[in-house]
Amino acid sequence: MAKYTPMIQQYLQVKAEYQDAFLFFRLGDFYEMFFDDAVRASQELEITLTSRDGGTKERIPMCGVPYHAAPNYIEQLIEKGYKVAICEQTEDPKQAKGVVRREVVQLITPGTVMEGKGLSEKENNYISSISTFEDGTYGLIYTDLSTGESRVTMLTSSTDELLNELNTIGAKEVVCDEALPGELQQKLKERLSITLSFEQDTVVKESDESFFRQLSQQKLRITAARLLNYLYRTQKRSLDHLQPVELYAVSNYMKMDYYSKRNLELTETIRSKGKKGSLLWLLDETMTSMGGRLLKQWIDRPLISKAKIETRLNAVDVFLQRFFEREELRELLTEVYDLERLAGRVAFGNVNARDLVQLKKSLQQTPGIAHLLQQLGESETNQLAEKLDPCEELTDLLEQAIVDQPPLSIKEGNIIRDGYHAELDQYRDASSNGKTWIAELQASERERTGIKSLKIGYNRVFGYYIEVTKANIHLLEEGRYERKQTLTNAERYITPELKEKEALILQAEEKSVELEYELFTSIRETVKEYIPRLQSLAKIVSEIDVLQCFATVSEKRQFVKPTFNNERRIRIEEGRHPVVEKVMNAQEYVPNDCFMDKERELLLITGPNMSGKSTYMRQVALTAILAQIGCYVPATKASLPIFDQVFTRIGAADDLISGQSTFMVEMLEAKNAISHATEDSLILFDEIGRGTSTYDGMALAQAIIEHIHENIGSKTLFSTHYHELTVLEDELQQLRNIHVSAMEHNGKLVFLHKIKEGAADKSYGIHVAELAELPPTLIQRAKELLEQLEEKGEPAPLPTQPKVLKEEEPLSQLSFFTEEPRQEQKKVAKQDEIVLAEIKKLDILEMTPLEAMNTLYRIQKKLKKA
Ligand code: ADP
Ligand code: MG
Repeated sequence: MAKYTPMIQQYLQVKAEYQDAFLFFRLGDFYEMFFDDAVRASQELEITLTSRDGGTKERIPMCGVPYHAAPNYIEQLIEKGYKVAICEQTEDPKQAKGVVRREVVQLITPGTVMEGKGLSEKENNYISSISTFEDGTYGLIYTDLSTGESRVTMLTSSTDELLNELNTIGAKEVVCDEALPGELQQKLKERLSITLSFEQDTVVKESDESFFRQLSQQKLRITAARLLNYLYRTQKRSLDHLQPVELYAVSNYMKMDYYSKRNLELTETIRSKGKKGSLLWLLDETMTSMGGRLLKQWIDRPLISKAKIETRLNAVDVFLQRFFEREELRELLTEVYDLERLAGRVAFGNVNARDLVQLKKSLQQTPGIAHLLQQLGESETNQLAEKLDPCEELTDLLEQAIVDQPPLSIKEGNIIRDGYHAELDQYRDASSNGKTWIAELQASERERTGIKSLKIGYNRVFGYYIEVTKANIHLLEEGRYERKQTLTNAERYITPELKEKEALILQAEEKSVELEYELFTSIRETVKEYIPRLQSLAKIVSEIDVLQCFATVSEKRQFVKPTFNNERRIRIEEGRHPVVEKVMNAQEYVPNDCFMDKERELLLITGPNMSGKSTYMRQVALTAILAQIGCYVPATKASLPIFDQVFTRIGAADDLISGQSTFMVEMLEAKNAISHATEDSLILFDEIGRGTSTYDGMALAQAIIEHIHENIGSKTLFSTHYHELTVLEDELQQLRNIHVSAMEHNGKLVFLHKIKEGAADKSYGIHVAELAELPPTLIQRAKELLEQLEEKGEPAPLPTQPKVLKEEEPLSQLSFFTEEPRQEQKKVAKQDEIVLAEIKKLDILEMTPLEAMNTLYRIQKKLKKA
């Protein structure tokens, strides 16, 4: 290293500590990057790669960005999941002996951005941290640095649960122990595209006790300490706005795995991954960014406590009844600024006077909002009103101290109101008196010299001057004016008395600017003390906002208040899919009922493609979710059970983006549902088994249905294009066939989108093909083939018809599908082989009679199923 120049040596020393980040190394007006950083940054940011002499033979790769343009570049890197270490000059270059001292002042990471594009207004930006413990449990914490909220929990089951939770949180970055198993690290990076960071220090500092206030369990404290210590180490500044960590339990919310959320498009759509077209998009009538963020949190975590759900619903009810008050409330809310993020920026020392004016305006809305809520006169809204803390002293302070329209800069004055501070007023008087004097001087000089065009001006270099055009110079009194500057047409002069006044004015101005800055920072410190109160105010305001949002949407979209029953009964009358309905615009959405109870646990849905099967299933799930977040539901009447979990599997045909083999994903999702669902769960299986060959798929579909029916008893909606499965209704007590009706009209297919009892009677595939305008000759040929098949009798060979399989011989009828039956037969043969091998392996002498019985039972079961 000795061969490098001292500056490059300094660079390398700093860089050694920030290996996983781009090091932005301040050199004058630029941030420079060297070596590999430079090569990669030049690619990522599309900036020119140059090189410089570093003391060695080979030149060092280098690229740089001007410091004033840096935020933009930093944002780009963060968005791509990188980290950026900002290394500043920390001494005055003029004073430096040798190389200027430089230090990293902040590490910016995807989870710690505080402003800019990386931070979307209506979305939290979470950084998370996990700790693993010897007993196999996980501690998980997540924090939004911009708002100061943190929540922590212990997870006891599998890594899947951990991944799922991280996914629900939407964490951008996870801080963990370097010893975290590589496999898990890999999963975090690849499956969730999360940026990983490491922190080994898990010691709780005494000064941070308030952050840990609610945590007594050692594991939770370790988990939280890891994250907090990481934040200190990387942010290197006050984190006063961090609120005490809140403890939560995953089991207090409705569980939905990653796939289910995605399939239901709760907060983003499958295709574009954007908000538009999602349930969140439909619901978002919030007026504040805080409310927007809370809405998303609520959608991500539906409740399972009936009491809590009903508290929300009752408040929505109040807002819904009172249209005018609600409109007024919405009006007031538009004036409320993002108090949560503001509190964060106050702690970071990043606020300007305009922010404080916004804060004042927000606070000024509070009494109005409280008054309005009280007017409603209901206990739900009264409780909210009581919790609103208007922070009056702070409002008054800001009103008295800060002008209505301050500039962006906090160092150039014009921030503090007249009358707020006596000394400041004096300076201002001095300066304005001086200015009046100067204005008067112009008049008196004109009179004295008789030059009408004489004027007094000011510029930064020469200060105040008297300007006289060249033609008039001869009129000036000898000796009185000292020439300062010559222009083409005029000369500029000063006089001793002008100079004296100027000094007074400038001094007063300088002092007043300095004083203003001092006053401003002290006000900012005062605001800091209010951070916890502002944060609790923010919480209540966002809650009010989401509740009014629910009322507003419910009215707009004609939702009704759901009721809950303990009989595991779903009774939805004229239910709709709210998003599809909204998107359809003028077209008529066809409402559908859904009825399920102890006798109808499983609905098997058939119907042609595009008839509305998927839409119907989703609308049932969305209705349940809406009800459990405390919103009204799209129906004319709805009575629902409270679901503990919702699982969905949407068929391969709809699955456009999965990288994994879609069939594998399908099976993983099915496994997930089957192994976790209870009788209080809701399962949607949409065309499961579609990703594999017909018989395979059909067999799997049937086995899955039987399994759910026999062993789980979840409320299940199962759509299928395997018409053959409809015979299951005869065998399975709690299964019912329903179908989406369609009608033939003049040989064409008309979708009615209406759910009816019973199985669909005919396959409409050819008509759909016709609608898709396949060539008429092709359609004609398909029709002929269909007729041929129909003439040969029922072409519905169910390879695994329940319990009747062995008696009938449907396979032989299938001349058209010769390929697949052969496979089927092979499979049966293979099954026999497996069983024989198993019997051969048995060590009979070592078995108890009971074991022998059990083994025999298992073998028989296997053969029956085959
Ligand atoms: P399937 O799953 O049976 O193939 P989808 O549920 O995907 O059909 O629905 C296809 C299209 O039909 C939807 O995009 C929507 O435009 C329309 N649709 C579905 N259900 C309804 C309904 N109840 N009323 C009106 N249009 C509907
Ligand atoms: Mg579908």
